[in-house]
Amino acid sequence: MNRPLRYYSTNRRVPPVSLAEALLQGQAADRGLFMPDHLPQLDWSRLSEFQQASYPEVAEYVLQHFTAELATPEQLRSWCREAYSFQVPLERVTQRHYLLRLDRGPTASFKDFAARMMARWMSHLMQQQAEELIILTATSGDTGSAVAHAFHRVPRIRVVVLFPQAEVSDRQRRQMTTLGDNITTWAVAGKFDDCQALVKEAFADPDFRKYHLSSANSINIGRLLPQSVYYVYAYLQLAEVAQREPITFSIPSGNFGDMMGAMLAWKMGLPINKLIIATNVNDEFPRFLQSGQYQKIVPSHVGLSNAMNVGHPSNLARLIDLYGGWLDETGLMREPADMVAMRRDLFATPVSDERTRHTIRETYQRHQVLLEPHGAVGWAGVMDYVHQHPDAEHQLVVSLETAHPAKFPEEIRQILQIDPPLPPSLSGLDERTEQYSTLPADYATFKRQLRQHLA
Ligand SMILES: *Cc1c(COP(=O)(O)O)cnc(C)c1O
Repeated sequence: MNRPLRYYSTNRRVPPVSLAEALLQGQAADRGLFMPDHLPQLDWSRLSEFQQASYPEVAEYVLQHFTAELATPEQLRSWCREAYSFQVPLERVTQRHYLLRLDRGPTASFKDFAARMMARWMSHLMQQQAEELIILTATSGDTGSAVAHAFHRVPRIRVVVLFPQAEVSDRQRRQMTTLGDNITTWAVAGKFDDCQALVKEAFADPDFRKYHLSSANSINIGRLLPQSVYYVYAYLQLAEVAQREPITFSIPSGNFGDMMGAMLAWKMGLPINKLIIATNVNDEFPRFLQSGQYQKIVPSHVGLSNAMNVGHPSNLARLIDLYGGWLDETGLMREPADMVAMRRDLFATPVSDERTRHTIRETYQRHQVLLEPHGAVGWAGVMDYVHQHPDAEHQLVVSLETAHPAKFPEEIRQILQIDPPLPPSLSGLDERTEQYSTLPADYATFKRQLRQHLA
């Protein structure tokens, strides 16, 4: 039996807590991010049993390592079945290179995977404690809709979503603003970073202490644990498990929550060869990996892959922590990370908007594979990696498609002159009534509005 997992803060000024505590707090009181104090190891004698298992079965196997104190195995099993009731296709593009489509959930982005499991964990905790929870979350486009859908009409939970007014697509916005009930959405006249700063400020504000306030952002550890599952799933579907064949993943990255899911799976023993971290024009991480000097981008640049317009990824503090360093909440490197190990494990590459469009065009023409801007950044990352490591042509590589092309119809139409087919999850959206209010990127105003809303 593994010893119980505890979650410490990357700033290490508060004592470690249980998963339930970490889920409810979101961010630690010292403004650090929670990290598991050790990682349970995948059992190779059992893994082969899961080789062609369904997604819910793999999810149950992986997540049971984390939820022993939270729920019974039967509860976890039914959560996995309910949450993952959609397809998780692996599409072959070339002989050994695949696309993992994480876009078949109810809001058509990979964020459904974490949000749907987290909603079940949170609502379970609130029922146990007979309390009300306020989920306060900032979104660059897809978190908001995934969280809003996952928590819609869940008793004992109210959701407030902040999004950057001019930086989300029409359909992304409609997915959040047409729900109503316990879901409230506010458009901020600013960037994603402004939204995130407002949320972080509220969490640290003593005036909100009387509420159970939690974030469903990827600063919440509950977002990362379920995101380790699809890496294990892809591996089990494609790799020679008996030989422990190594695999490389390419991850289109913004706030680095997705890539932290891969890091967790890696630390649990998944034989990962390399992680390709593909960013858009917000290239603070590729620069850092090259120079060793971290400099956040303020304000963040506006790129085509809007969910990745992040100039200072919150989860970078977790990555630096894993490599022995300390990055504080302001983006200051207090202790250096092991850059040699980081460069061995990670390949980081920035992809311009022009290349993103080119990749969408080329992948469609050459392979009849339809990508959207985020997945195209990931695929361009694979191209860059293979260019520098010709061996990788024959190695198992999986690139993540993190959203459905129909979420970005204007771009796809412009680049390919086709209309991406609408998945069932998005049909009817354009006709529903929206409801949201607008807010300046100013904490005092935001605070007043939030207090009124919660009163
Ligand atoms: C959020 C998002 C990303 C970036 O994921 P991070 O975990 O923030 O790195 C990439 N693609 C899409 C479609 C997203 O919604």
